[in-house]
Amino acid sequence: MKLSTGLTRRTFLKGAGAAAAATILGDLGFDLTPVALAAQNLRIKTAKENMTVCCFCSVGCGAIVHTSDGKVINIEGDPDNPLNQGTLCSKGQAMYQLTKNKRRLDTVLYRAPGAKDWQTKDWDWAMKEIAKRVKKTRDSSFMEMDEAGITVNRTEAIAQLGGAAHDNEECYLLSKLGRALGIVYLEHQARI
Ligand code: SF4
Repeated sequence: MKLSTGLTRRTFLKGAGAAAAATILGDLGFDLTPVALAAQNLRIKTAKENMTVCCFCSVGCGAIVHTSDGKVINIEGDPDNPLNQGTLCSKGQAMYQLTKNKRRLDTVLYRAPGAKDWQTKDWDWAMKEIAKRVKKTRDSSFMEMDEAGITVNRTEAIAQLGGAAHDNEECYLLSKLGRALGIVYLEHQARI
């Protein structure tokens, strides 16, 4: 969308935060608008932009994820998304912390059946163990037909639960995987 100044909505909102800071300094007699705008734009100037949908609730606000060298450096509301028009609620604004957060666990913790203590494991061990257990359970419980002779190709022995930290794309892949395995109990934390 073009504003009357000739700026696009996206360009305008990109500079809005920096312009506000410049206005405060302007009250003190400094005109730092160009400097502040340049600083704000510089941070994401060479970053790659990907569109996504906020993972937290079913409103489904659009967001832009900026990445540089394969790392997320910024997430903000998508001004071109007709639903939220660049805005995000306080929860959506915290999306960045899903990727960068000192308090987030980054190792696998495993508690064996019946055990009371957690053990630290590596990712290779965890992925192999999960794959092994899913395959064993699916193979032993897979039904091609139900009691009425109708083809169902499903397992009722595995349930899949998505979490709020999964983004739209991860949820899509997890649903695809679950359905390909024949899982029928598919749920998401946001709905329960
Ligand atoms: S930004 Fe807020 S309202 Fe929008 S989808 Fe995320 S949690 Fe829901």
